[in-house]
Amino acid sequence: MIGNCWYGFTLPEGTTTDITERWREPPGVGPVFCLEPGGHDAPHRACVISLTVGAVWVEWTKWGGPEPRVLLLADCPATSPDRMDACSMYDEHQGPHTWERT
Ligand SMILES: [Zn+2]
Ligand SMILES: [Zn+2]
Repeated sequence: MIGNCWYGFTLPEGTTTDITERWREPPGVGPVFCLEPGGHDAPHRACVISLTVGAVWVEWTKWGGPEPRVLLLADCPATSPDRMDACSMYDEHQGPHTWERT
């Protein structure tokens, strides 16, 4: 089994302002954490706001690097075999679905 990367990142103020203005909802306070599977290839991605359809994700490469990218991504359509869990990743993500992780 594989877990999440969990690499943390603090959003620059400009990114927080941009997200708040575009979706009229501020991202949470404090660092965001990468939800890609552990050992994945860069870049890191974290979900910052879940929308009715899709979600707002932030993509970054490293601490102090260039401005992160803000992405609006569709949800992964998969559900677990018992249909109890929806995957919380975006569509066409790398690695296992979230219910397959530790
Ligand atoms: Zn990561
Ligand atoms: Zn999935």
